[in-house]
Amino acid sequence: MAIALGVALLLGVGVYKLSNSRRIQVVGELIQRVATTDKVVALTFDDGPTPGDTEAVLQTLAERKVMATFFLCGASMHDHPAQTKEIVAAGHQVGNHSWSHRRMWFMTPTEVRRELDDTDEMIRDSGYQGRIDFRPPYGKKLLVLPWILRERGTRTITWDVSPEDFSGVEQTPEQLRDIVLDTVRPGSIILLHPMNGRTRTQEATALIIDSLTQEGYRFVTVAELTN
Ligand SMILES: [Zn+2]
Repeated sequence: MAIALGVALLLGVGVYKLSNSRRIQVVGELIQRVATTDKVVALTFDDGPTPGDTEAVLQTLAERKVMATFFLCGASMHDHPAQTKEIVAAGHQVGNHSWSHRRMWFMTPTEVRRELDDTDEMIRDSGYQGRIDFRPPYGKKLLVLPWILRERGTRTITWDVSPEDFSGVEQTPEQLRDIVLDTVRPGSIILLHPMNGRTRTQEATALIIDSLTQEGYRFVTVAELTN
C-alpha cells in the first residue's frame, strides 16, 4: 500500500513537472531558445491586446526600430480589433496564446481545437499573413494539446528568460532589466507581460532594449530567430 502510494505520488509529480516544462513536450516541436553565438534575442509579449498598453509597447518598439513577437488571446483580439490591427500593421510577428487563456492541460480535443482555431481566425482576420506559432497559457501542456499542435504543424514557443515575479513581489523596471541582463544569452527568448496595465513591465521593456543594444544585441522575431 505504501509502495503503491509512493509510486502514485512520484507519477503525479512527474506528470506535473512535464506539464510545466519549458524544455520538453511529449510530441511536436517545442522551442525554448536557439543555439547560436550571434548576439540575437527575441522579445515576446504575452496576453492582450489591451487598449493603451498596446500603444505604449508599440511606441517603445517603433522608437527603437525593434521587431518583436506578440502572443495574443482570441477573446482580447475580438474585444480590441483596433489594437490587434496596429500590431499587425507595425510588422510584428503574431502568435496564438489561446482564446480564453485557461489552462489547457486537461481540455478535451474538441475544446483544444476550438481554442486554437477561433484564435487563428482572429489573427487572420486582422490581416496577418505570417506564420502562427503557439504559446500555451501558463506554459501548461500535457498530452492532448501537444498532440493536436503536432497534427496542425504548429510549433510551441516557450522562453528561457522571464524576469517578472508573479508571487506578489513588487519589482521596479530597473530590477526587471537587471534580471534580464543577468540571465540573457545569445539566442534567448525573453518573455514579458506588458498588457493589462502593467506599466512597470512597459517601462522595463524600454530599459531592456536600450541595455541589450548597448551590449551589442540585436532584436528579431521568433520566426527570424528560428530561421
Ligand atoms: Zn498568458
